[in-house]
Amino acid sequence: MHTRHYPHTSVPPEVLHKWLSALLCALHSIYFLLNMLLIQKLDLGFIQFCAALFAGYCFYASLKKQDRPWHRYALMAILTINILLSASMMDLVAGSIFWSLALPIWYYSLFGLKKGFYFSAVVMAVSAAILFTRADTNLFMPYRTLFNFTLVYISIWLVCHIYEVQRQKISSFLHSLALQDALTGVCNRHALKTDLALIQKQFTHIHMLLIDIDRFKNINDKFGHDIGDTVLLAVANILSKTTEVKEVYRLGGEEFIVLLKDLDHQKAREEAEKIRQAVEQEIFQSHKEDIKLTVSIGISSLQPEQEFNDFLRAADEKLYQAKREGRNKVCF
Ligand code: GH3
Ligand code: MG
Ligand code: MG
Repeated sequence: MHTRHYPHTSVPPEVLHKWLSALLCALHSIYFLLNMLLIQKLDLGFIQFCAALFAGYCFYASLKKQDRPWHRYALMAILTINILLSASMMDLVAGSIFWSLALPIWYYSLFGLKKGFYFSAVVMAVSAAILFTRADTNLFMPYRTLFNFTLVYISIWLVCHIYEVQRQKISSFLHSLALQDALTGVCNRHALKTDLALIQKQFTHIHMLLIDIDRFKNINDKFGHDIGDTVLLAVANILSKTTEVKEVYRLGGEEFIVLLKDLDHQKAREEAEKIRQAVEQEIFQSHKEDIKLTVSIGISSLQPEQEFNDFLRAADEKLYQAKREGRNKVCF
């Protein structure tokens, strides 16, 4: 399970990134024109011209699917600096400080909970300091302006934070629904496919152990489906405990898969043998009598460029060889 990464933001960062860069390109261009033409703030106008160019480049890169995470950080850094500079350089009555109220929304959406929290805290402190030092005018009263600004900022920040915490909880719940087997708690077939695609990029030697409980139907017939379920759970626990590498999956029914990474053929066979013996030695409890079980195991080794289905089929063929040769057996 540890190879899989859950997304940290509600919308895929690439999508947010694309629209953020387009929006920032438009905003910086508008402010560049306003600063240059209307109020002749050439220094700020120049910064906004550069920012518009960079945002335009980021938008172009995201259209070409060449956006990079650092683009996001750079865009937000530019936007933040721009807002804080405007707030400290321009007339306070122009209200550019209001822009900082929008920043927590972007931070949480783009960078997730932890960074969202820290970035929002820093911006609040800096904005409050700017506002406090500049609000001593006929139109503003420093303490009361600061009080109102901070409260509005905190309420927006709080909503972003609560929303992000809830979103992450729901997201990990949905992931466990999608990727975990409900009965045994190990990963399911869907997770197997996604994990394999990741593992394939990182390791050259990958083995699949396809493990099938022998004569499992008899357990259901003799002890009932409930006990059958308990046995499946117990077998899944044995697999998780026995293998040092914890990638255990339930393929469906009474079939499990263990993926072994970076082991040679001999070591993979030894792992399978360990599992076979562990199940054979276990005594499973039922209300009637103790249950003894065995498993048959087919092993396949992933070939370069091999598809998931072919990899699985190769293990399946070996599993059926083990069944034909009398069960409670490992075949490679
Ligand atoms: P073999 O040694 O050839 O594998 O024999 P088998 O009886 O294990 O294989 P078969 O495919 O004939 O039967 C598998 C049984 O697994 C049939 C089905 O009732 C049972 N089964 C599948 N899923 C579940 C489940 O979720 N819970 C329970 N209790 N039984 C299940
Ligand atoms: Mg089966
Ligand atoms: Mg079976």
